[in-house]
Amino acid sequence: MEKIEERFLRYARILTASDEDSPRRCPSTDCQFDLARLLEAEMRDLGLRNVRLTEDCYVYGFLPATPGMEREDRIGLIAHMDTVNCVPAAPLKARVLKYTGGDVVLNEEKGIVMREAQFENLRGVVGHEIIVTDGTTCLGADDKAGVAEIMSLLEYYREHPEEPHCAISVAFTPDEEIGSGADRFDVAAFGADYAYTVDGGEANEIEEETFNAAGVRVIIRGLSIHPGSAKDKMLNALKVAMELDAMLPCAEVPEHTMGREGFYHLCALSGGVDRAEMRYILRDHDTDRFEARKARMEKTAAFLNDRYGEGTVCLEIRDSYYNMALRLREKPWIAERARRAIRRAGMEPVTQPVRGGTDGSRLTFMGLPCPNLGTGGRNCHGVYEYVSVDEMRRVVEVLRFLTGPREAD
Ligand SMILES: [Zn+2]
Repeated sequence: MEKIEERFLRYARILTASDEDSPRRCPSTDCQFDLARLLEAEMRDLGLRNVRLTEDCYVYGFLPATPGMEREDRIGLIAHMDTVNCVPAAPLKARVLKYTGGDVVLNEEKGIVMREAQFENLRGVVGHEIIVTDGTTCLGADDKAGVAEIMSLLEYYREHPEEPHCAISVAFTPDEEIGSGADRFDVAAFGADYAYTVDGGEANEIEEETFNAAGVRVIIRGLSIHPGSAKDKMLNALKVAMELDAMLPCAEVPEHTMGREGFYHLCALSGGVDRAEMRYILRDHDTDRFEARKARMEKTAAFLNDRYGEGTVCLEIRDSYYNMALRLREKPWIAERARRAIRRAGMEPVTQPVRGGTDGSRLTFMGLPCPNLGTGGRNCHGVYEYVSVDEMRRVVEVLRFLTGPREAD
């Protein structure tokens, strides 16, 4: 078996940043094909069937069940190949170190230190081997740790043909970080009864609840006129924008909420007297409260239109994704199966509500129920990103219990 840290580093060194500003999707960047081609070849070498790399940069493969396991559910395992582009990903200078507690000097020369006081999650990995960067790039453990763990599992089964397992569908996807990873996912060809994304978080985490999410575009039409003769004529679109925002509950914003509290988030504001544009995102785990947030935006716009004239404020509200718990609750055994696997790997499962969405939330509503599992990665999307090697090994065990024979009750 290749050591998991070596496998991970091989993948991490391949640049695969996706790009929100690219006019294309799936993939938004050609570099993602570099990893996709490598994975395609490795999956063939590991004896998977029906391995294919699509022109949209999805890699699929299938491992048939071992004799006697054919009637078990067919389980899907999914990880994304792309990384964020908001922090540099290269040149990657990653190193493995034994973490014994305290601060970690990432870069002596530049004085970059990961402080225990700031990153409390370090306390959970005392005694672990961890992989860090030199503090100038992200690590890309989100989600190459997930990719490496799934590939390690496949290698394990290849080297232990006596070990029984169910049928396993594997997919590696592009463009997750820009919200498009599920766009062209071929659920029918994938053929799994249900699946798990292996994407981020501590090794004992299972995520089966996400936000409901909508985006709102607000267009405000004002009336511009020379300020010297503006009396009773001018309508300043910027002032209307400020008024609109002031009418929303001021504590229900990302910077004042946590856990299952939802929010209105003003993420862009631009314009002038004549015309202004605002962009909001609305988030809530609870469906009724989510609908109430959208209704509140409509009511606020209607109020302002009453005051300033019809057509002053126009809203476009678009739902982005929904809380996957709505569907997963109907099939509780899917998450339960993961919790058992985590326990059998010697950990206590922790269920976290995600304050975001996952590819799994989209896939769940496309007919493939899909909770998310941790990878052992921490501090993703930044230069302090690191991954615990000990936890990566644990996750491979979790995946093995997940796809192996079920425990007798
Ligand atoms: Zn991720």
